[in-house]
Amino acid sequence: MSQKESPILPGSVIGVLGSGQLGRMFAIAARQMGYRVHTYSPESDTPTGQVADREIPGDYEDLDKVAEFARGVKVVTFEFENIPAPTARTAAKYAPVRPDGEVLHTTQHRLREKSFLKQAGFPLAAFAPVTSREELLTGISRIGLPAVLKTAAFGYDGKGQSTIANIEQGLNAIAKSPQTPRVLEAFVDFEREISVVAARGMNGEFAHWGAIENQHKNHVLDLSIAPANVPATIAKEAVEIARGIMESLKVVGVLCVEFFLTRGGKLLVNELAPRPHNSGHWTIDAAASSQFDQQLRAVCGLPLADTRQFCPAAMTNLLGDLWTNGEPNWPAALALPGVKLHLYGKIEPRPGRKMGHLTALADTTEEAARIALAAREALRKNA
Ligand code: AMP
Repeated sequence: MSQKESPILPGSVIGVLGSGQLGRMFAIAARQMGYRVHTYSPESDTPTGQVADREIPGDYEDLDKVAEFARGVKVVTFEFENIPAPTARTAAKYAPVRPDGEVLHTTQHRLREKSFLKQAGFPLAAFAPVTSREELLTGISRIGLPAVLKTAAFGYDGKGQSTIANIEQGLNAIAKSPQTPRVLEAFVDFEREISVVAARGMNGEFAHWGAIENQHKNHVLDLSIAPANVPATIAKEAVEIARGIMESLKVVGVLCVEFFLTRGGKLLVNELAPRPHNSGHWTIDAAASSQFDQQLRAVCGLPLADTRQFCPAAMTNLLGDLWTNGEPNWPAALALPGVKLHLYGKIEPRPGRKMGHLTALADTTEEAARIALAAREALRKNA
């Protein structure tokens, strides 16, 4: 992409592949700045579709339809990274895809992602490819136990993941489909997990919101706290790694790097997401620009925005489980100071499904985390 390319200005149509909550929050940011949004996915009445100008239902494999969609927009971005490569390639014939298909290709497969990181010299836990029982045994003898076995493709939020303590558990975990590509990863006894969400513009401009601390429950993000309670040197190092990764991949858009911080104070990259990330949702409420504002500016070739954080913030996810006993008690949560509610317009509250999130703003991160969790707890109270 040439640096001289003129920016895509307000009033233009932006295409979003995928139609979940990330697309919804992107579409809200885009419409706020006067853009129009078309979203493409196999579903209808989606979180993104509900706020977009047009919702185009179609399969990602229906390349004629994908081409028609791309012909109708000025730029294509995506909100989930499991878009098939031919879909991105087809769209790219008619409109720029940002970040490009190469970034998608690298990051949608754990083995490709880890191999890229290793080759480029970024720190990460030891890993080995597993596509057979033999490779599993070789991997275990090289990496040791406990270890984590993950499917290489289409895995997120802990799906397709198991921690194995002995060889038998490993063999059981792959018994049903030993050939399915997997990655065996050293188990990291981390002190905490952090992430850096950052944006890179078409001219290489870089912006970030510092280090964010993340706590997971059942492998799903539960609580994010910003800024992370880590030494400034660690936060700086994490940001520099994120910058380096975005440079190497030539990302135009937003990317999140998730890290383990080991007990020895070492940062290891866990995984990359080439899009806004759950751990960056607090930026909507507590920063001068959100990760979605930046995605918009980056993919449109506009200058990136000020990322300064106005106050400490904490974000907690609202999963479908909260609906088990009926509608959550919204007034009880909203009665707490500094609480902002975001719901994604999903009709069916299945257990484990991300239905929304709460952000709490406070004077300290401890207070923000306490309020965010108290607000979520209040949702369970009978009205
Ligand atoms: P992932 O889908 O790879 O981001 O994994 C989801 C969560 O599982 C991570 O955020 C960690 O809490 C945990 N996890 C994943 N890989 C490892 C590992 N190698 N060692 C320890 N915990 C892990």
